[in-house]
Amino acid sequence: MRLSYSSINTYETCPAKFKFQYEDRLPSSPSPALAFGDSLHRALNLFHARPVPVAPSLEELYEMLEAVWVREGYASEEEERLYLEHGRHVLAQYHRDNARDYRIPAALEFRFTIEVEGVELSGVIDRMDRIPGGGYEIVDYKTSRRLPPRERVDRDLQLSVYHLAATEVWGIEPERLTLYFLLPGQRMSTVRSSGDLDALRRRIAVVAERIAAGKFEPRQNPLCDWCEYQRLCPLFRHRYEREDGDPAPRMTAIVDEWIELKRRGREVYRRLDELSALIHAFCEEHGYRRLFGTDGSAVDRRPQHVTAPDPVRLRQILEPLGLWEKVLSVDPGKLGDLIESRALPPEVEDAILSSREEVRTQFALHLRERERASR
Ligand code: SF4
Repeated sequence: MRLSYSSINTYETCPAKFKFQYEDRLPSSPSPALAFGDSLHRALNLFHARPVPVAPSLEELYEMLEAVWVREGYASEEEERLYLEHGRHVLAQYHRDNARDYRIPAALEFRFTIEVEGVELSGVIDRMDRIPGGGYEIVDYKTSRRLPPRERVDRDLQLSVYHLAATEVWGIEPERLTLYFLLPGQRMSTVRSSGDLDALRRRIAVVAERIAAGKFEPRQNPLCDWCEYQRLCPLFRHRYEREDGDPAPRMTAIVDEWIELKRRGREVYRRLDELSALIHAFCEEHGYRRLFGTDGSAVDRRPQHVTAPDPVRLRQILEPLGLWEKVLSVDPGKLGDLIESRALPPEVEDAILSSREEVRTQFALHLRERERASR
């Protein structure tokens, strides 16, 4: 199996998207963001490709940008012009920050393929520099506007893959791994330990195993709004089919009724909570334990003293009676948050996900309020 940082990242974000993109190889359309990022990468590659340690002038850098400018992907000439102007502005800042310390890099646009846990892992390292005084720094250019949180950089998959590649290909341990955010003109550097690289190998093995097992469940995520495969995705396909002429109007009516009942149910529970609080308060104030209406009564069963149980003592009492397990339960929301946090080792996440699949066979529907309209 052949994987790259991007394909692993795509799989981890959404296995269904991975399948559309890498297994089915469905064509994707160019976008301004991709064309712009590609153009800046190419221009910077030329900028650093000099055989002498003298930086090209800013004018030369502009010419390089124009020579490698990727034109596909823009909606209009005006949009393209604005992006080109912005690109010049970004490169002017880059030149200001880097021309003085210009050095010949140790590697530039370096393509590698290494073998990891039976997987052919390939990629391209934007740049590797020798650090004055010793050691190497791997630099990857980013064209996103916002800086990510520090923990995300410390766990960044791409930098881990590049560190591993440098170790395998050149036999070196890079001193620094840097994401260079071109738009704000800021660097964020991190390091990787041998433990991190072991975790990376396991992570790749888990992804490869899931792909080999044909696990391509869609996973809704914040990037769905920009996903090119929404029309094919089981989570969104029906919305498009309805727009093109409802294939099953009866089911739309059924879903509408279900949504209406769910909403009314929520309102009913909210009102029940309010009334319960009023009844409890009245009972407490007047010493009642039951209040009668015209058609029944409400019994105040509220515990008089609510304290959190001591879990250790509770366990000592219930476990010998075989009742401990009965008071334990899993909160699916919290479990979902834990998985989405990506804080778990991949094999643990995998084990949890596969344990959830047994539960998934049960019929369950959740109300999701109206989604934002797609682009
Ligand atoms: S729309 Fe979202 S869930 Fe569907 S394939 Fe794309 S990323 Fe995955």
